[in-house]
Amino acid sequence: MSLYILPKDQLSAFVEALQASFRVVGPTQTETGYAFADIVDPEQLELDYDTTVLPPKKYFLPQREVLFNFHANALEPGTGQLEVEPVFQDVTPTVIFGVHTCDMNGIMLYDKVFAEGFRDEHYMERRDQIYVIGIECLTPCDDASFCKDMGTLTAPPIYDLHMTEVNGSYLLDTGSERGEALLLEYSEAKMAKSEDMQLLGRTLSAKWPHFRHRLKMSRDQTPSLLSLGYDAHIWEDLGERCLACGSCTNVCPTCFCFDVQDELDINMEDGERVRVWDSCQLHEFALVAGGHNFRESKASRVRHRLMRKGKYIKQVHGLLGCTGCGRCERACLVDITIPGTLNALYEEMQLEPGG
Ligand code: SF4
Ligand code: SF4
Repeated sequence: MSLYILPKDQLSAFVEALQASFRVVGPTQTETGYAFADIVDPEQLELDYDTTVLPPKKYFLPQREVLFNFHANALEPGTGQLEVEPVFQDVTPTVIFGVHTCDMNGIMLYDKVFAEGFRDEHYMERRDQIYVIGIECLTPCDDASFCKDMGTLTAPPIYDLHMTEVNGSYLLDTGSERGEALLLEYSEAKMAKSEDMQLLGRTLSAKWPHFRHRLKMSRDQTPSLLSLGYDAHIWEDLGERCLACGSCTNVCPTCFCFDVQDELDINMEDGERVRVWDSCQLHEFALVAGGHNFRESKASRVRHRLMRKGKYIKQVHGLLGCTGCGRCERACLVDITIPGTLNALYEEMQLEPGG
């Protein structure tokens, strides 16, 4: 598409202009780090952040989401009356600033998961109203990042605008027509010149040496590695360490498993069907009728998470289920990490490098 340039000191005016028509959110500083939150004052927006505890997934998939309201006429049993009214929660024009490339890859996965097969209209309605403005990562978030291994160090084609900071300005690539219209209507951005494009190319090339590889295998090997290692010893070791707390899945930009619950009013007639985030690491996740639990052991649950990340999701949706953001590593109290697990499995299986 097209490349525009916006001096950094004009960013606040852009945000302020957007606020007249949109909910604007982005990374903000908190007492414990950075977090995506509503931007009330444009000065709150911290585009030069390392990472956030939670990814911006809460705007795409709320932690608690009402799917529909129902009214059942319980006082007259046998009448068969059940009235259902769909609810589309949090469908509001929203601009999300400062999405890192790893998190944009997570959004790309969600866009496939919720559009393919059983199309999820609740997600799609909300998604249509969300503009994604990415920011290029020129240095890694911290030592937990392994985006270079996972191929998420570049922006996937899901953004409306993508910003790269260069010499006191932002160069903005337009990824969609609506993104370009947003920029032209609400900012003073100008078309970039050919020297700006060259500078952008040099900036993007120069960033790669700052990022390191952490995996001992290529990401293309993870599905076969996990197949081979299904009965490996490492799962028992990890199962003994895991606390089954679910923190790793809660902070993950690609985890999307949920529970569906009916919440009945005290009148026993009205209620809501809600979906809430769930975690495959919790004991209850695989508990079914009759008290049977088909992933009773922590070892089987840790293995299942890794299988989803490195194999199953790719088989169904064509993308790996891990962006290398490092959030689960930062959140885990017992130091269970994706690179550590895959590398240990690789050694246990003694795969040929690069094969
Ligand atoms: S599995 Fe961990 S590193 Fe991978 S996307 Fe989820 S939180 Fe990030
Ligand atoms: S954060 Fe760590 S301890 Fe908690 S469930 Fe995940 S792997 Fe287990």
